[in-house]
Amino acid sequence: MKDLDLIIRNGQVVNPDRVVTADVGIQDGRIVKISADILARGAEEIDARSMYVMPGGIDPHVHFHLRDYGTITEDWDSATAAAACGGVTTVIDFAFQEKGHSLKESIEERIEDARDKVSIDYSLHAGITDWNQATREEMRYYTANGIPSFKMLTVPLDAEWMADDAAVFSVLEETEESGAVLLLHAESASVLDLLIERYHTPAMMKKHGAYCHPLSRPPYTEYEAIQRAIIWARATGGRLCIAHLSTAEGADSISRARKDGVDLWAETCPHYLLLTDDLFKGKDGHYYATTPQIRKHSDSLRLLEAIKADTIQILSTDSCTYTTDQKNIWSGDFTMIPYGLPGVETFIPTMFTFLVHQHNLSLERFVSLVSTNAARLYGLYPRKGAILEGSDADILVLDPAKKVTIDCKKLVTDCDWSPYQGMKLTGYPYATISRGKIVAREGRFTGEYGWGRFLKRKPGGEI
Ligand SMILES: [Zn+2]
Repeated sequence: MKDLDLIIRNGQVVNPDRVVTADVGIQDGRIVKISADILARGAEEIDARSMYVMPGGIDPHVHFHLRDYGTITEDWDSATAAAACGGVTTVIDFAFQEKGHSLKESIEERIEDARDKVSIDYSLHAGITDWNQATREEMRYYTANGIPSFKMLTVPLDAEWMADDAAVFSVLEETEESGAVLLLHAESASVLDLLIERYHTPAMMKKHGAYCHPLSRPPYTEYEAIQRAIIWARATGGRLCIAHLSTAEGADSISRARKDGVDLWAETCPHYLLLTDDLFKGKDGHYYATTPQIRKHSDSLRLLEAIKADTIQILSTDSCTYTTDQKNIWSGDFTMIPYGLPGVETFIPTMFTFLVHQHNLSLERFVSLVSTNAARLYGLYPRKGAILEGSDADILVLDPAKKVTIDCKKLVTDCDWSPYQGMKLTGYPYATISRGKIVAREGRFTGEYGWGRFLKRKPGGEI
């Protein structure tokens, strides 16, 4: 029998429907054979005895090299190297339309920006900020030509990006016909503005410091916007995914709507499961500012229940990495903090420890949440998100017994802090493989910048 490029031997191969002990053979970037005993030899071999062989992680919500707040988030090279070291083999980032410009301009600019830097495969959601007939036509074009997912925000994070209800409604109408998906950042814009102004006084900022951030963003500023979007999804028959769900009440609304048959999915992020807003009372509280904000322990518990009940199908990180210097731009004014958290490198290991070790989630459900479901919804399955013959050889070999204490100094990311500093983990990536190439080994980057390719996706994905 002909030799193969790479063989992963004796691992527990995990897919959403089963776990089997098998060898996985790889040739020319694809999985070509899965069997109990591959007789061929591999030019390279990995002994995965007592390890899990999983589809590489898919993080469908990241913001690399994003220009905002007069600064810029971590660049594609170190961010994708960090992703690879954390077991992630595909990321989906964003191309936000500039008002008065086309989707095409921002998409081409983002692809050009990423091209020589990405070390794993990636795709883009198209961000719609200017809804008009030309945008509608572009939406139809991109849905059929590789970008069938669109992002909108109902909040003036940046006034330029905000979508009003008529635009959200119209985009949902389009998704009903075309099979595209709308990924929505749902917050109540005008009430938020009002509350932020109330806390944006010298007296309030002196009294509460960075804690003004959570105080000005109570849970109803998320779940009101989620309920409103669900009403539009129900009315239009559109396909809606709620981004970075953070509240218990939002989870309840989504659960009810899904039972009623609305085409609705939801993602949440590690920081909503692992952190609480008490952090804002600490010395470096402003580091934790992100939107929606980190909430209470009771919200985290409800989100965990929602994961177990399949109300939430997708985990993502919303990585938007600013260093401590960049965060310190705030100088005591909570409205000036660059919003966002690092997380793509610690995504899989923190979630493995939390969900599988601490909360007994099955391995099958785990790979669904961190890989397969995103591949399905966003039109990458079965090329990505599965260990199947014919799929891309995007594989995470995870050592479930490996003990690691998170230390930002040892991470590969350029960021000089981690929200999870000191967290004790059980289970860490042993090797990460991108289209047959070993791009990370035991936390060290072994890949190549420019290796990653832009992925064209198909509409109509379901979970
Ligand atoms: Zn985001």
